[in-house]
Amino acid sequence: MTCLCCGKELDALDIGAHRKLINRQAKEFLCRDCLAKDLGWERKFLDEMIDRYRRWGCTLFPQGKAKE
Ligand SMILES: [Zn+2]
Repeated sequence: MTCLCCGKELDALDIGAHRKLINRQAKEFLCRDCLAKDLGWERKFLDEMIDRYRRWGCTLFPQGKAKE
């Protein structure tokens, strides 16, 4: 699967972040770079939020180590 906006290959974190922050039912996704832009966030802030959600055990993200 690739980013709707830039065509970059997506990973599980991109998809989880899109579901969490945009639309849980989404079938098409943005990569983290485009998602951050869309939200008006710094990419770094988005990564921190993802880290936080994962530490809280959010099921939209892959479990395990908190950094990819
Ligand atoms: Zn993108």
